[in-house]
Amino acid sequence: MTISRLASSIAESPTFALNEEARMLREKGESVINMGIGEPTNKAPISAILSSAARLSSGEVKYTPPDGTPSLKKAIIRYTEDNYGRVVAPENVIVSAGAKQSIYNVLFSIVDPQDEVIICAPYWVSYPEMVKMVYGIPVIVTPEDGSFHPRMKDIEQVVSSYTKAIIINSPNNPSGAVYTSDFIAEIVDFCEKKRIYLIMDDIYHKLVFDNITWRSAYEYTSKDVDNSMVIIVNGIAKLYGMTGFRIGWVVANRKLVEVMTNVQAQTISCTSVVLQAAAEGALTGMQSIVENLRLTFQNNRDVIVQELNSFRDVRLVKPQGTFYCLPDFRAYCTPSLAKNSVELARLILQKAFVVTVPGKEFGLEGHLRLSYVGSIKEITEAIERIKWVLDPFSPAEIYIGDRRIVRNWL
Ligand code: PMP
Repeated sequence: MTISRLASSIAESPTFALNEEARMLREKGESVINMGIGEPTNKAPISAILSSAARLSSGEVKYTPPDGTPSLKKAIIRYTEDNYGRVVAPENVIVSAGAKQSIYNVLFSIVDPQDEVIICAPYWVSYPEMVKMVYGIPVIVTPEDGSFHPRMKDIEQVVSSYTKAIIINSPNNPSGAVYTSDFIAEIVDFCEKKRIYLIMDDIYHKLVFDNITWRSAYEYTSKDVDNSMVIIVNGIAKLYGMTGFRIGWVVANRKLVEVMTNVQAQTISCTSVVLQAAAEGALTGMQSIVENLRLTFQNNRDVIVQELNSFRDVRLVKPQGTFYCLPDFRAYCTPSLAKNSVELARLILQKAFVVTVPGKEFGLEGHLRLSYVGSIKEITEAIERIKWVLDPFSPAEIYIGDRRIVRNWL
């Protein structure tokens, strides 16, 4: 049995191993708190459920055009006008099975073998692997100042004649950083001038806190969509809590959309008409659900920041959006405790039954990504447990579930 060299080179996600361990612990009856989860916990909006249910009960469940149903594309065009201030044509829009597939399809359609794609650390885990899957080379830029904000001069330094695209994700998974409008303006200008594609992964764009205004890349280019290097990726997963519906989309120049449509037609044909109806329901229904999620996450962010700030040697840059934070646990990466973030995440899971995601996955060792989609009780309890595992100045005994446990390793 042979496996292709390319496929074998794609990394396994340590998250799956940790999740599997968490599942087994839960099965044994342990009280596991999941801070690794990357999705809101709300139920899908009623407008989404009703419109998909109507489609399902009509029995008319057939193929759709490969780039999406005209009515969902119309809703996306409206969304783009409302949120990006751009009127785009149906030929500028393609619907895929989640933003993840949208990004893969973009990369497949623009990257030739050995082309380079610039990715800013900390980055979403899938970007480098997807670039590799299309025979491209991921080029990682890590901010030297320890902040979560990429700098234009660092990016310029790695640009070469092979640079095909730059991927930007703001608000950012995993750090929660929202990049400044000055940076967005600079990078848009740079990419338009150099004719480098700028892939904007806007999947969290409405989950921003503290009255910060999120600005779209389109605000900083005077080029029309068909002449612009800006590629917008968005979807319903995070803003509406509809991760399982698997609908995302791309807005880009029509030549690229045409190519992506051919690629999609030859691979998945189209996404499910039922799920496209759900997405249309979400986009055209009551939008207060998005604001409710945003307010919940902002409140949860305040709680987790407060809890982490009381943690002696943890450094935290306050997240300005998403539902993640990326505290720096390097002080606890010691030979006697855990060599790196993977070992640290495992230690925390084994001792305190809290799931976290190692920073290594996001290109930033020594950090852990914590998701704060859960209840306030879960968040405070999780941080208390992590403190108990790592901080010798915290009380040596704790109740986990109804068991009293005494720490004996620090
Ligand atoms: N981009 C980022 C930054 C994400 O965090 C995620 C989901 N974790 C996606 C894209 C993919 O979203 P979808 O579920 O729509 O495929």
